[in-house]
Amino acid sequence: MQQCTNTAIGIIIVAAGRGERAGSSVEGPKQYRRIGGKPVITHTLARFLAWPKTARIVTVIHPDDAALFEIARSDLVGGENILVCFGGATRQQSVLAGLRALSNGGVTHVMIHDAVRPFIDEDLLERIATGIEAGDTCLLPAMPVTDTLKRGDTAGLVVETVPRAGLFAAQTPQTFSYPAIVKAHEAAKESGRDNFTDDASIAEWAGLAVRLVEGSPDNVKLTLQKDIAMADAKLTRTALPDVRTGNGYDVHQLVPGDGVTLCGIFIPHDQALKGHSDADVALHALTDALLATCGAGDIGDHFPPSDPQWKGAPSRIFLEHAARIVRKAGGTIMNADISLIAEAPKIGPHRQAMREKLSEILAISLDRCSVKATTNETIGFVGRREGIAAIATATVVFAGDAR
Ligand code: MG
Repeated sequence: MQQCTNTAIGIIIVAAGRGERAGSSVEGPKQYRRIGGKPVITHTLARFLAWPKTARIVTVIHPDDAALFEIARSDLVGGENILVCFGGATRQQSVLAGLRALSNGGVTHVMIHDAVRPFIDEDLLERIATGIEAGDTCLLPAMPVTDTLKRGDTAGLVVETVPRAGLFAAQTPQTFSYPAIVKAHEAAKESGRDNFTDDASIAEWAGLAVRLVEGSPDNVKLTLQKDIAMADAKLTRTALPDVRTGNGYDVHQLVPGDGVTLCGIFIPHDQALKGHSDADVALHALTDALLATCGAGDIGDHFPPSDPQWKGAPSRIFLEHAARIVRKAGGTIMNADISLIAEAPKIGPHRQAMREKLSEILAISLDRCSVKATTNETIGFVGRREGIAAIATATVVFAGDAR
C-alpha cells in the first residue's frame, strides 16, 4: 500500500459511560474492570499505542473516573502521551468533546472507538487505513448479520421475519475525515439532535457516504457482566504459560564391586558406585533438576548425607519426594531427561527399562521420560573408569500466568 505521507490518524477512545448493564463493581465502570489482570481500557489503548499509524490518542472519560484512568494508563508504554478530556451526558456529547480536544493536533482523520472493545486487532485497523488511502470520507467496520431476524410486538409475538440480506452489525472504530465529522457533529448539536447512538449515524444524517469495511468477529463490545467474565477467561487462556526448566548434575566414584544402580535399574558389573545411598547418580541429578523448578534447594538439603537413615536407601525415594514437592507447588511434570556419562557398563540394553522406571516413579507417561548415554572417549575420570556422571533436565509447567 502506498502510504500517503500527509495522513495523520487521531484516535478517540470513548470511555465516559457508566456501564450500568454490566452491574456495579468495586473496580468501577466496565471499562475499568480487570480482564487478564489489567483494566479493559488498558488493553484497548495498548492496541492503538502499538499501531504505527496512530498519530494522537485522546480518551474521553467521566470526571469521576480520573483516578481510575491514571491507574489504567500507568503501565502503558507511551501512556503519558495520551490526551484526556471529560465527556458529557450522552455518548454524542462525549465524542464531540474528544473531537474538539483534537483540534490542534493536526490530524486529518479520526477513528472513534469504544473503550469496551479491547480485542480490536491490527488487521482491522489496516483494512480501515486502506479505505482512508482510497479516499473514503467515512468508514464503518461491520459484520454481516448471521442470525435470522424477527420483529416482535409488545405482546411478545412475532410479527414478521426480517430479511437479513444487506444487514450489518456496526462495530468501531468508525473512521472519518476529521473536518467532515467535526462539521457533522457540530451541525447535529446545533440542530438539537443529541440521541445518535453512533457516529456513522451522524455522518449519514449529514448526508455523507459511509463505506462498509469488513469488521472482526473478535472485536466484540463488552456490555454485560458475562461479557467481562468471558473476556477475562479468554485472556487468561492466552496468558504466558509458566514453564520452568531445572537442571541437575551428579558424580559418584566407582569402586570394586558387583554392579551399579542407574535410573533405579541394577546392572551387574565388576565395579560399584560409592555413596551413602544406593549412589544412583541418574536419579540424584534428576532429583536436583525437579527441585530447581520450584526453587526448593537441592538433594542435600532434603536428605543430608550425614543422616544415617538414608544409608543404602534406594534413590527413588529422593525422586518421589522431589516430585511431591513440585506437585504441591502446583507443578505438572512435563518431561524428564537424563544423560549418563559412563565408560562402562553399557547402558543401551537397559535404556527402555530405565525409562519405564522413571515413568513409574514420576507417574508420567513413557514418552515424557528420556535416558541417553555417552562414553567420555576414555579421557578424564570417567574415561579412566573412576566414576560415572549424570546430567538431568526437568521441565515443569506451573499453574497460573508467568507475568
Ligand atoms: Mg549423589
